[in-house]
Amino acid sequence: MPELPEVETVCRGLAASLVNATITSAETRAHLRHHPEPSELQDFCQGRTIHSIRRRAKYILVTFAENDGLLLHLGMTGAFKIDGYDGPPEKHAHVIWRLADGRSWRFLDPRRFGAIFICRQDLDKSVPPPLANLGPEPLTADFTPAGLYTATRNRNTPIKNFIMAQENVVGVGNIYASEALFRARLSPLKPASTLSRTACRNLTAAIKAVLTEAIAAGGTTISDFHALDGSEGKFTVALQVYGRNGQPCPVCGQAIQRLVIAGRSSFFCKKCQKP
Ligand SMILES: [Zn+2]
Repeated sequence: MPELPEVETVCRGLAASLVNATITSAETRAHLRHHPEPSELQDFCQGRTIHSIRRRAKYILVTFAENDGLLLHLGMTGAFKIDGYDGPPEKHAHVIWRLADGRSWRFLDPRRFGAIFICRQDLDKSVPPPLANLGPEPLTADFTPAGLYTATRNRNTPIKNFIMAQENVVGVGNIYASEALFRARLSPLKPASTLSRTACRNLTAAIKAVLTEAIAAGGTTISDFHALDGSEGKFTVALQVYGRNGQPCPVCGQAIQRLVIAGRSSFFCKKCQKP
């Protein structure tokens, strides 16, 4: 499932390719997990020029001149293609936007957990429902050690679950939670409320560092993530614990452990990340 660096990678690719493009039609071939009425999507998009494309949490905001727009979510397997292809639609191309310059922009999604929301309001003035109740963006000044310390008091949930909950901090999924906790030398099972101020400082810094490095590498490809140009995320080679169970810890040499926490595989070193 794409996490923040993968969505950011896709978002930057879309922005480079689609800003100032004009949509001539929007065709729905199959419904995604959340999907507007096909005629509504067509009416909303037709004839409009894309003004900006940016990310909030794991959503991509495509805005028009009035600052209203579309909110897109990649779900598990969503991906986009933009080119001059004009043949029969690909198997999983569920939405096709045709552009005035002759290109077509397709939303491909084999598992169809992706989503499209129409936002009719000015997106700077009000928050659409999918973006309500989201925590701070980890790469901004809104995500701080002091904020993490305050938010974790009286929270007995394991710290890994805490940082993966979108209301606490957005975009940190299973891969980057494991990597950040390893860098901060914190056990994924440690109750959130027991983090010291120093631990909060280390974890905040680790989350920011791992996400920044992953964005610079174009994300992580575990099974099927690809950027808009088809390239794989190159952060996969930089993973220190995720998916490396049984292999030596890069710090102490002990075997990396795998543990299922809240239904998700967690990878950590028992010696470097003491509970
Ligand atoms: Zn170790």
